[in-house]
Amino acid sequence: MSAYLCDQDTINAIATYATAHGLVADAKLFAELLTLQNVASMQARYSGREWMQAEVIEPARAYVYEPVEASAAKVAELADEYDYQACETDDYKLTLCARLVARILNHASDLAALERKGGVGAARLAIIWTAKSSNAKTGPIPVSTTSSETCSPTCPFLGNGCYAESGPLAFLWRGLDKAGPNASWRSGVATVKSTDWNGLCKNVAALPDGQLWRHNQAGDLPHTSGMISDTLLEKLVNANRGKRGFTYTHHEVTYTKHNRALVQWANANGFTINLSGNNLKHADQLAKLAIGPVVAVLPSTVAGPEKIQTPAGRTVRVCPATYSDKVSCKTCQWCAIADRDWIVGFPSHGARKNAVDRLTKA
Ligand code: SF4
Repeated sequence: MSAYLCDQDTINAIATYATAHGLVADAKLFAELLTLQNVASMQARYSGREWMQAEVIEPARAYVYEPVEASAAKVAELADEYDYQACETDDYKLTLCARLVARILNHASDLAALERKGGVGAARLAIIWTAKSSNAKTGPIPVSTTSSETCSPTCPFLGNGCYAESGPLAFLWRGLDKAGPNASWRSGVATVKSTDWNGLCKNVAALPDGQLWRHNQAGDLPHTSGMISDTLLEKLVNANRGKRGFTYTHHEVTYTKHNRALVQWANANGFTINLSGNNLKHADQLAKLAIGPVVAVLPSTVAGPEKIQTPAGRTVRVCPATYSDKVSCKTCQWCAIADRDWIVGFPSHGARKNAVDRLTKA
């Protein structure tokens, strides 16, 4: 088999992924390391060939790092390809480059296995619209629940302590996943009906002006491979004009320009999207983006209105509905404030709070 110089997008996608997932600190330096090792591999294999200068060394010298986003599955494929093209030096397996590439390959393969299929393209995207919630924490406001394929593939709580994966909400959510859109089924003593995205937007548009409502007591924004759907979000933002919808997202925004722009746009257009921090350090990173309000998961030991600050000194206020029966989203409304510069904290709770506690310490 012949060896070749991987193209610039391949190297940049591997470096972007590695930085986005904390496997290396500097994407540009890592892209340079990848390029150098690939060139060294070719020099080892094709030593003394005249065409090396023009076809390998000069093109490699012109490589410039720019972020290239790719799904975990794609990065696993690219890292595997890169590994094959870079392995011709005798010491390859001992190099830092080889070790990092092996880590990326493992990480991306594992993440790809966790990623859920579906996303917005799936005909099964389904929503339950509850016109008046009976949940004591939200209070009697309209609330939606969206099928779980909308959850972010990179959410660390997915299958690992998410509050919606246990208790009565999990029961409802699993029923929704199974039934799909525009269906009805028995859930305990009640009959539950689901709708599709158009049905959701119709319900939202029919709300009286100024009405507070909460999108997604479970679920996230529709997406394909982690990229939020601009068409579906736009429909919802337009339906919400004049109302006061709010929601939360775990979709990746730090390195994903597409998602960042959409979240910022929605927040500027009356639909409040809170960025969900996995812990206080992550909340600081999200707040720095200045594209929307931020919430964070707190350790389960937080009980009551404690004075909390993030590592960077930002104020954190504990959601009052978590410690007082007298407060609900209907009366509090903090999460609907798009230009809030302080962070709302939610102590972990539920059957899997130990798993969540471990993540809040990350
Ligand atoms: S902080 Fe307020 S609006 Fe946000 S979840 Fe808690 S009660 Fe609801």
